Amino acid sequence: MPITANNPNRKSWIDVQKDSDFPIQNIPFGVFLTKDDIITIGTRIGNCAIDLGAMQQLNYFEGIELTDDMFMQDTLNDFISDGKKTWRLVRNRIGDLFDSENPKLRDNKAHRDIIIFDINEVEMQLPVLIGDYTDFYSSKEHATNVGKMFRDPENALLPNWLHIPVGYHGRSSTIVPSGIPVHRPMGQTLPNGDTQPVFGPSRLVDFELETAFITTDANIMGENIPVTEAEDYIFGMVLLNDWSARDMQKWEYVPLGPFLAKNFASSISPWIVTMDALEPFRTKGPKQEPAPLPYLQQKGKHAYDISLEVYLTPNNGEPDLVSKSNFKYMYWSMAQQLAHHTSNGCKVNSGDMMGSGTISGPTPESFGSMLELTWGGKNPIKLSNGTERKFIDDNDTITMKGYCKNSQIRIGFGEVSSKLLPSFVRK
Ligand code: CA
Repeated sequence: MPITANNPNRKSWIDVQKDSDFPIQNIPFGVFLTKDDIITIGTRIGNCAIDLGAMQQLNYFEGIELTDDMFMQDTLNDFISDGKKTWRLVRNRIGDLFDSENPKLRDNKAHRDIIIFDINEVEMQLPVLIGDYTDFYSSKEHATNVGKMFRDPENALLPNWLHIPVGYHGRSSTIVPSGIPVHRPMGQTLPNGDTQPVFGPSRLVDFELETAFITTDANIMGENIPVTEAEDYIFGMVLLNDWSARDMQKWEYVPLGPFLAKNFASSISPWIVTMDALEPFRTKGPKQEPAPLPYLQQKGKHAYDISLEVYLTPNNGEPDLVSKSNFKYMYWSMAQQLAHHTSNGCKVNSGDMMGSGTISGPTPESFGSMLELTWGGKNPIKLSNGTERKFIDDNDTITMKGYCKNSQIRIGFGEVSSKLLPSFVRK
């Protein structure tokens, strides 16, 4: 079935600013709360939030097989469960209805008033109930940088890294949407040169620039997903700031890997941009040398050209751009990650979230964490207000943006932006 929603020549009767992340070719999916306290599934064109629940009630999805309350829910899990064919039919229909040439909804003011909200009048929620969260570690540059700093500069990349899309199971309980502030975690660390650990606020709170993909029901327990089919089970992507406490991480991660340094907060952008919308931005990933084992081998274009930016905004200050990276640098593709994840028969559900791992590029300004940008705090970043940062200060706001652009269209993710608050301890 063709993706007619991607037609680059199409214009909407909704006004869309030139550099908007949300032209009519995007049609992402999210969940929002209206000012009347109604929660609904929606999409976005320009600065309009569109209530898909209301559209369904008014019969705009007639002819597409959907359960009656498909869009009147507070998560996208059921819709995502319906699979790729339904996602495509719904996006195609939305594209048709908002096409400047189509009078059906354009000329029905009563319906428009029910369906369309100003984006500033809605409150974005988590788009899915995330059952399981897995975080990969798939940027070769990031893994090499961290290996140099935490272990051994001569053998920065561990021997398994070029053969396995390395990952760990995270926590879904502390994933929050953009806008929700995060507290500096308390934790155990071993101060430099000391032999005894201490407990207190982490002193080295960091961001990790990541994207994440959201899956549909992929398999039954015991069954694997072949790498050639894995893309069919990926609904779409979000931006992910996977907050990290480096001092806690360094002390706790041996031998079982990340734990409390990682699970205090992970922030995501609220609109899921579908893989269909990202289709025009496929590109070739880095050459994989040595060749992966056969169950991970892929041909063709399986990376995506997504420009990524990180801004640090001090309290009452102006944003400073601190990192500029690109998703295409990732060594392992999302399909390889999902094929590997299920290669042992691990079940993946609708609404599961898989983080890419920190996305660092080859140059110092493209590193995806403060740890790398300041090289463990050795080279502080100078901000435009005259202050310096080795890591993130209390009341700093971290904002990540992402977009794809070609000569015809720009498809973006909006942003994930959240403030780091001081530690909070219950007395
Ligand atoms: Ca991470």
